[in-house]
Amino acid sequence: MIIVGLTGGIGSGKTTVAKQFEALGIPVYIADVEAKRLMAKSKIIKRKLIQLFGKKAYINDVLNKQFIADIIFNDKTFLRKMNAIIHPRVAKHFEKWVLKQDAPYIIKEVAILFENGGHTACDYIITVTAPKDLRIKRLLMRDNTTKNKIQAIMKNQWTDEEKIKYSHYIIDNVDMEITKNQVVDIHKDILKRA
Ligand code: ATP
Repeated sequence: MIIVGLTGGIGSGKTTVAKQFEALGIPVYIADVEAKRLMAKSKIIKRKLIQLFGKKAYINDVLNKQFIADIIFNDKTFLRKMNAIIHPRVAKHFEKWVLKQDAPYIIKEVAILFENGGHTACDYIITVTAPKDLRIKRLLMRDNTTKNKIQAIMKNQWTDEEKIKYSHYIIDNVDMEITKNQVVDIHKDILKRA
């Protein structure tokens, strides 16, 4: 199975692009969504997160996202420890998921693909780009967040220039119609290689 990693900075439009591949019949695995799902339902993850963050990590069995977000935002050691709990389990879940897919290739959307070395497990990599100010504008419209918070996350991610160096395809996601055309072109190209 050909694994195509789909990445890009916060708010670049990864999920928007992933949905366009899905509309072409390609199975899509969104790592962040699966990680959240596992944090909500896996007993082992829940136990380990409570060991790490204390009882306040869950309220009535529901992950206390804001409490955890505040801790990891201020102390990167906690972020690393949390990733060490979650990443191996998402990786296992992904391996099982891939085996069940029947398609010429699959798309795996990972926000921090290069930063965590996940690109080495992909056959091809697509990076979605968009100007920083446009990404900030889109995120302020989508989320209940602030410019400062978005910029702090951006600082922890590789720059577009760094990502482009290691990518096979770049989607410049400014105009939706142009983006859709780029997706179709890339889809055809990967099918040729499959
Ligand atoms: P995150 O990094 O938070 O996971 P993302 O990279 O997956 O975000 P999306 O959620 O796909 O980004 O897009 C961010 C916001 O921008 C969404 O509200 C989406 O609808 C909007 N958006 C994405 N692409 C475009 C576009 N080409 N034109 C207009 N709006 C867009």
